[in-house]
Amino acid sequence: MNATPPQEPLADDRSPAESDPRHIRAVFDGHRETALRWRYSTAKERIVRIKRLRDAMMTKRDALYDAFSCDLRKPAAEVEASELLPVMDEMRHAIGRIKSWMKPHKVHPTATMLGTSGWVQYQPRGRVLIMAPWNYPLNLCLGPLVSALAAGNTAIVKPSEMAPSVSALLTGIISETFPRSEVAVFEGGLPTAQALLDLPFDHIFFTGSPSVGKIVMTAAARHLTSVTLELGGKSPTIVGQTADIRLAAETLMWGKFLNDGQTCVAPDHVYVHDSVKQDFIAECLKVLRARYGETPNGRKQTPDLTHVVNRRHAHRIAALLADATERGARILIGGDVDITDNYVAPTLMDRVPADAKIMEEEIFGPLLPILDFSQLDQVIADINARPKPLALYLWSRDRQEIDQVMGQTTSGGACINHCMMQFAHGGLPFGGVNTSGIGNAHGHYGFRTFSHERAVLRSSPLMLVKMFYPPYTKSRSRIIRRVVDMLRLPML
Ligand code: NAD
Repeated sequence: MNATPPQEPLADDRSPAESDPRHIRAVFDGHRETALRWRYSTAKERIVRIKRLRDAMMTKRDALYDAFSCDLRKPAAEVEASELLPVMDEMRHAIGRIKSWMKPHKVHPTATMLGTSGWVQYQPRGRVLIMAPWNYPLNLCLGPLVSALAAGNTAIVKPSEMAPSVSALLTGIISETFPRSEVAVFEGGLPTAQALLDLPFDHIFFTGSPSVGKIVMTAAARHLTSVTLELGGKSPTIVGQTADIRLAAETLMWGKFLNDGQTCVAPDHVYVHDSVKQDFIAECLKVLRARYGETPNGRKQTPDLTHVVNRRHAHRIAALLADATERGARILIGGDVDITDNYVAPTLMDRVPADAKIMEEEIFGPLLPILDFSQLDQVIADINARPKPLALYLWSRDRQEIDQVMGQTTSGGACINHCMMQFAHGGLPFGGVNTSGIGNAHGHYGFRTFSHERAVLRSSPLMLVKMFYPPYTKSRSRIIRRVVDMLRLPML
């Protein structure tokens, strides 16, 4: 397996010719004819496209292990579990359901529409752009692409320049599967992203940071292009008085340190009830040592921990750690940093002051602040005072406490007695709320995201609309008035 150290982000594009806006525009223009043809593509044709993509991806399985090792030192088992598995699940789910998703959805006539029939027709949006981040570079490019193909769209995919080995493989997978006039990939950095954002796509599906999300939405507004924004933020976690402490420690240590904490839905910080805090910390320490090594050196050498993506991010995370400890935070385990190796130890800390930077920014790395509480109301007030998070996690066996947290907070998604699994469930919508995102992905929700829901009404001779036509005689006006009054009557 290739163990080359992770690379720095490219300052610019890999190939200037590829990022030439005229070249990008030509490929985009070439999608027009395909998009018009694919507007009436059948379920069978869409399924064939997804199956071809699946088979091309699976032939690159071993090469993907190497690419992930190169970009992120990601263990092969994590490549399987967090990259291939979700994409395969998305593909399987879509292949089995495209036919029923595509069926027009009939709607009952409302009181004033008696005598008509109405339905929603699902049409492909047309030419879509998919922009992805580096943290799950395969999953977050191919997952949305499956939904785009299921809905019958052409696509241009822009992977992140910060995972160059995976991006290069992805380009190979897609170009072996599709002619460029159907699905194209543009690797590259800022100039490529900007050239793409200048184009009048029919939809943009962006996954990344809230700050770049705003840039994408502003660019889309120039063409009134619709957007789906899958963003990030600080996802809070609560461990209540009645929580199963062992379960909470086992699942939280997995959710936090999978992909080295570089997960949009990773638990960012945890509020633990005073009465169980010491037990919770003891369990977490036990789990961490058993999984990654008993000693600091053992944990540094473990092959089971992904590393920080690059030096810039290692510096960023180290600075959050230093700021917190300078302000009085206590390290419970970890705290060591080796920037040259893109390594920050899995770290738990408590006594973190509220004004520490780590409590302001999305951590996106292997640091977990543990905060204690005695009053749930305070925790809820703290959560509601911050931007709406992408995820919220609660460990509790108290029905009332669960209802209170679920009722009085909001977030893109939530888990009770688990974490991150709301992402994995293909039947649930995946998305944020306001600052953590706009719109949904996955399964049927992903299909609808990439579809235009066209309202169709078929009239019939029975339709009473004629009485609304001028001239507005006295009797006609009286009838119209009566119709409005009748709408006061309750629905049967
Ligand atoms: P990012 O926003 O920096 O980059 C995402 C994409 O945007 C990349 O393809 C990048 O090339 C492009 N980009 C960067 N700067 C740009 C600019 N100025 N103009 C146009 N395009 C630009 O995000 P990232 O660092 O790659 O990923 C981390 C962020 O993504 C975190 O905030 C994380 O929470 C979030 N994220 C969200 C989800 C989700 O599903 N909600 C999933 C993964 C990551």
